[in-house]
Amino acid sequence: MSESRRASPTWPSGHRAALCLTFDVDGIYGEANYQDPSNTYMISQTEYDPIGTVRILDVLADYGVQTTFCWVGKVAEERPELVRRAHDAGHEIAMHTWMHRYLNQLTDEEQLQDFELTFEVLQRITGVAPVGHKTGGWRFNATTHLIAQQIGLSWVMDIPNGDLPTVMHPDPERPPMVNLPPSFHYDDYAFFVDKLLTPAAAYDFWRDDLDVLRTEGGLMCLTMHPFVSGRPGPSRALTRLLDYAVDLGDVWIARADHIARWWLERHTDVDEALGEAPRSE
Ligand SMILES: [Zn+2]
Repeated sequence: MSESRRASPTWPSGHRAALCLTFDVDGIYGEANYQDPSNTYMISQTEYDPIGTVRILDVLADYGVQTTFCWVGKVAEERPELVRRAHDAGHEIAMHTWMHRYLNQLTDEEQLQDFELTFEVLQRITGVAPVGHKTGGWRFNATTHLIAQQIGLSWVMDIPNGDLPTVMHPDPERPPMVNLPPSFHYDDYAFFVDKLLTPAAAYDFWRDDLDVLRTEGGLMCLTMHPFVSGRPGPSRALTRLLDYAVDLGDVWIARADHIARWWLERHTDVDEALGEAPRSE
């Protein structure tokens, strides 16, 4: 299996795997929608976001890699200077809802407003129209992806359906987009908040997955949070993984929009899309 994949490389320039680092800037809104309101520590832990964002940007600058920041719209509006700083450093700025509400609990009209508010504020801050969206808590429904396609996005990162992008046609009449598969296994929250594991444990896990994906030509989409991986120790899981991936020399470390564009240019064949796309999501 892996031999045949190697014969026709999945990724540009002969890279054997792709690594997409994404950082979700939730601000106070993620935990506020998730935690018991009386749990003031857990809610206020996200106030570390600005410090963590700066530390992560410094780490990424050291490696010279481009990544994707998924910004909650209201957080971006409150601290536009950090959004601009990430944008100016060459990172993609994508959407992560307006206030981290669970989209599958909203009406269709509320979902559309949520997308539009976030789209507009990010475009106003960076001067660039966002092309990607990740739902808060990975809660979405069919309307979510119809709207994402309707406003012209090229990617979502919502459905953990494998180790490769999949072409989606929520509305067959519109241009397709891709789902870049997330995973709780690639979420720093699972390692450093749900469980208080060490950076070495997270690194070991991710390195082993990357090794397997590298033999198969896969894609690894990490989801990190500035208030988690931006902390001193957990940031070492990120630096170790980057050390490892960069040293391998054949892992394409790329922004989500670049991966989506590359994939769409090569995989928009209708038959393949019908076979792969999670069309009823
Ligand atoms: Zn989030």
